[in-house]
Amino acid sequence: MRVLIGGGSGFVGRELTRLLRDKGHEVTVISRQSGPGKITWSELESCGLPPCEGAVNLAGENLMNPLRWWNESYKKDLFSSRIDTTKALAQAIAASPSPPHSWVLVSGVACYKPSLTAEYTEDSEWTPFDLLSKLVKEWEASALLPENVVKTTKQVVIRPGAVLGRDGGAMKQMLLPFWLGLGGTLGSGRQPFPWIHVSDLAGIIAQALEPPTDTPSPSQQVFNGVAPALNTNYEFTKELGRVLRRPTILPVPGFVMNTLMGSERAVVLTQGQKVIPKRTLEAGFQYKYPDLTSALKEIAGN
Ligand code: NDP
Repeated sequence: MRVLIGGGSGFVGRELTRLLRDKGHEVTVISRQSGPGKITWSELESCGLPPCEGAVNLAGENLMNPLRWWNESYKKDLFSSRIDTTKALAQAIAASPSPPHSWVLVSGVACYKPSLTAEYTEDSEWTPFDLLSKLVKEWEASALLPENVVKTTKQVVIRPGAVLGRDGGAMKQMLLPFWLGLGGTLGSGRQPFPWIHVSDLAGIIAQALEPPTDTPSPSQQVFNGVAPALNTNYEFTKELGRVLRRPTILPVPGFVMNTLMGSERAVVLTQGQKVIPKRTLEAGFQYKYPDLTSALKEIAGN
């Protein structure tokens, strides 16, 4: 199968590319920069969709970019980098004489309202309540294909929690302070911490790219891209300290996080949701890292 991956040069994209190539598939990345195995977003717009059986969008300005101050220009980039690239891919798919059989958008769990008690599955109803949930709403809507293509192309949305892996995402920024013994719970520590190992997220995306077995449904199929273990930030912190054999005694209060990161963004760390991968499990996905211990040992154990 030939797969086109928007933002495939990033943390998740590199893992997905490795997995797909290992399975014998061909990968082309869409990027802002040209290079071998890549096309640019302007080439996609001017030349149309290259021949492919699967398409994925992973492009987006990093929400946790430590080099960017939380301001209006950053928020605008968070929206436009996701919505414009997703629209460009959806439009190219709609205009293609031979559209791919699968179109996958990776969004996020920020659509579910943070709560210490509520449990969310893919069937949970939600309406936007803050900036990041508005982003998810607009982002997922921009992936919708017009009626003429929905009969041939399966539309999938995967909503991951924090993606854990050695080469990027939150762990890249956390490993050093934790290793130095400066790690600690964030906010109260009681908030749920939905997470997934990057290798499992790549596996869920690869499964979603497989050809549909029936006529595709006209609506998007949603899968929560989280591990089935429900953990709190406290449990995550303690387990990471245990795996690294380092103390985790320095909690970071919520107001410090809000000041440093901006409260609209800090919410992803100081609050959280219990997210259940109901449909992902029903679809038969086999996790390599279903629990924190196995995931953190693989990432930090060496
Ligand atoms: P990365 O931060 O690694 O970025 C992916 C790619 O997006 C980059 O390689 C880059 O490709 C492209 N990109 C970055 N900034 C912009 C921009 N301003 N305009 C257009 N393209 C841009 O993302 P991840 O791989 O970590 O995540 C993939 C997707 O999953 C993202 O949409 C993210 O929001 C979502 N997600 C990630 C989570 C995580 O913990 N990592 C958690 C939940 C959701 P290039 O430079 O080649 O153009």
